[in-house]
Amino acid sequence: MMAQYLEVKAQHPDALLFYRMGDFYELFFDDAVAAAAALDIALTKRGKHAGEDIAMCGVPHHASEGYLLTLIRKGFRVAIAEQMESPEQAKKRGYKSVVRREVVRLVTPGTLTEDSLLDARRHNFLAAYAEIRDAGALAWADISTGQVRVMPCPRAQLGPELARLAPREVLVADPMAESLRPLVEDMGAALTALAPAGFDSGSAERRLCNLYGVQTLDGFGQFARPERAALGALVDYLDLTQRGKLPLLQPPTVESADAAVQIDAATRRNLELTQALSGGRDGSLLAAMDRTVTAAGARLLERRLSAPARRVGSALARQACVSFLHGQSRLCGDLRQALKAVPDLDRALSRLALDRGGPRDLGAVRAALAQAGALADMLHLPELPVLLADARAGLLGHDHLLDALDTALVAEPPLLARDGGFIAPGHEPDLDEARRLRDEGRSVIAAMQAEYAQDSGIGSLKIKHNNVLGYFIEVTSTHAERMLAPPLSERFIHRQTTANQVRFTTVELSEMETRILNAGGRALEIEKRLFEGLRAQVLDAAAPLAQAARALAELDLSAALADLARAGDWCAPKLDDSRAFAIDGGRHPVVEAALARAGSPFIANDCDLSAEQGAAIWLLTGPNMAGKSTFLRQNALIAILAQMGAWVPARAAHIGMVSQVFSRVGASDDLARGRSTFMVEMVETAAILNQADDRALVILDEIGRGTATYDGLSIAWATLEHLHDVNRTRALFATHYHEMTALSDRLAGVQNATVAVKEWEGDVVFLHEVRRGAADRSYGVQVAKLAGLPAPVIARAREVLAALEDGARSTSPKALIDDLPLFSAVQTPAPAPAKPSPVLDALAEVNPDTLSPREALDVVYRLKGMV
Ligand code: ADP
Repeated sequence: MMAQYLEVKAQHPDALLFYRMGDFYELFFDDAVAAAAALDIALTKRGKHAGEDIAMCGVPHHASEGYLLTLIRKGFRVAIAEQMESPEQAKKRGYKSVVRREVVRLVTPGTLTEDSLLDARRHNFLAAYAEIRDAGALAWADISTGQVRVMPCPRAQLGPELARLAPREVLVADPMAESLRPLVEDMGAALTALAPAGFDSGSAERRLCNLYGVQTLDGFGQFARPERAALGALVDYLDLTQRGKLPLLQPPTVESADAAVQIDAATRRNLELTQALSGGRDGSLLAAMDRTVTAAGARLLERRLSAPARRVGSALARQACVSFLHGQSRLCGDLRQALKAVPDLDRALSRLALDRGGPRDLGAVRAALAQAGALADMLHLPELPVLLADARAGLLGHDHLLDALDTALVAEPPLLARDGGFIAPGHEPDLDEARRLRDEGRSVIAAMQAEYAQDSGIGSLKIKHNNVLGYFIEVTSTHAERMLAPPLSERFIHRQTTANQVRFTTVELSEMETRILNAGGRALEIEKRLFEGLRAQVLDAAAPLAQAARALAELDLSAALADLARAGDWCAPKLDDSRAFAIDGGRHPVVEAALARAGSPFIANDCDLSAEQGAAIWLLTGPNMAGKSTFLRQNALIAILAQMGAWVPARAAHIGMVSQVFSRVGASDDLARGRSTFMVEMVETAAILNQADDRALVILDEIGRGTATYDGLSIAWATLEHLHDVNRTRALFATHYHEMTALSDRLAGVQNATVAVKEWEGDVVFLHEVRRGAADRSYGVQVAKLAGLPAPVIARAREVLAALEDGARSTSPKALIDDLPLFSAVQTPAPAPAKPSPVLDALAEVNPDTLSPREALDVVYRLKGMV
């Protein structure tokens, strides 16, 4: 067995090998050590290899999914070797032969399909990145839903695209692996390096044609060489990990690189689009706005929010659906109610395709199609927006399949086909007959038990069943003697004695058992055949079913956004290709929700960055805690929401399409990534200044904060000038450097704004109102007081501040420190008053404009002679 183990293991050196032995998956050697530590299970020993103990650990087969998930989350890959024959079959092949085992599947982060291993509301993308000369392409698939996409993607663009998709695993060719590893792993994805042959674009084309059963890929669109290479690598890898059972992949679609607003990883993090800074989904915009009622709807929401439309046409088409349903609240409510009964069609289909599906997945297809019909009826309306009309079309035309499933299946099909019981009675006469025989047998056995109990006079006699003995008669040991003596022993044949029971059989019972077994086995066989038939019927309809699944998700998302807009009192933004950016009464949906829970109102604020051409920048000053960051972010979020087709949290909004969104916060702590915080801040700022075009929206919060005051001010200053003069963006720039407010006089596109506060009896009251103009001061001491700094510290800070503010106008900082009471102990002598200087007097009398060169030289000699 060990020889077999080592042979299998040698083919999968970089995966943990789950080696099936009876009811367990066993791991050996280093695999065992690593898995035992990762899973926190006992490490034992079994036999010796090359004179050393063999380390071993195991997980029960029936509970293996949980362990698998833990291992995958911890970054392992797992190869699953199953027994390919029974021990009896192995014996037949020869004395002492080992049961044949083969790896049936490689489990990796990007290739999961089990419901229990997946988050229903998120995509699980596997991506592949290929480069041919200078051209790159990124392909990705969600094998649990069958979606496949590809896009051209130069190396520089890879970071932002990966940030958008958040794949679980990224495939690259070996030679590129090391240079891409930091980028990929930074995104939280696993990097898998493959041999370059897998990325060969020529053989990729052949593989893809085979997969989709076509002569040429042209029918799906035009694919450049790197795109074919990336797609080919994806398919190759799926073939490898699924061991030839390819998932149900939809034809690839090309996503154009400029279809979506460009949002890089730092901006996503900072705006907390799909993940809060704290790490989880809670606290993100996604969590705050998710009102979808189906898993596929939730996945679509995340996708749209991660990739808002760049083109006004797409955004408006989506918005039209939301607006339509917003205007029809009854219809919207009914749709949402009906959608609640829609199961996850995509994932059911994918499991069926991979032959990991069961009757419950057929049931899911039936339920989805039944609801699809009902939803299509509800949408039988004039003047439906285009996308809703398309969705409705996708919901129609499945009656034939629905009928087939509905007449065949019971109301609540079980998870597994193995035990039968999912085909409805009356569907197949042969099955009904087999079941009748089987069930009759069971009632005959019940009658037998009553008869035997009476004949033997043992009232507690029972007929039971287990897998080893089949049917048997059982009495407690107290009655053993009676049963084992004539006359009863003539009829009851002894089979087994256990601690408390004695077990028997009879000729009659054995015959009955055979009849039941035969009938039961036949019933199972028929059900299995019917299951395969239904499965094939479903897979034949894979393309229209995938379209129905898309339609259901689109409907769910539109209705959810309409519901959200109504509940939150949001408005439909006006979108066009101008350079407008006018938000009237905007709000931050996440902060607003948090405040609402605490019973406080959110103060809505206007923002106007409209400019026909050139830059439009608001320079925002105001004390800490006034609400600057909130204001900055809310405007970026409103733009993103508007372009994903949603309504927005504002009274009114007019947005000229934004091409890129950048958001940076000065010196956030990024110790975890081991870079100096200031360095990170500068790298990120550089990325903006180098990339932002005149349709970008830039949000800079306290840039320059991470270094000494004058350095910081200078950097912030120069950054703002660059944004204004070179990038010419629409931007919001928050700073605590009041000196910068002077820039608004010099730069036409810069305006000052401030978040208002009121001083009241020495305290500061935050009004959270954004107004035009500059802040008068920063109120740091008052904020510190609110934060609970001890009273003496506050009092002292006021003293220092007063002195500093006085001093700043007259003397040097050093002199200023000397003026402060506490420092008087170390006072240095005051500087002597300035003496009159003959040199300076003489110099003052010189008029350079009237001097000849010769005279000038004389003056220099004269002055020199006086010192
Ligand atoms: P800053 O960036 O100026 O330090 P923040 O934007 O972090 O301030 O806001 C501080 C707190 O003030 C927030 O946590 C929130 O509770 C509150 N706040 C911010 N903006 C508003 C608003 N418009 N209306 C009500 N409360 C607000």
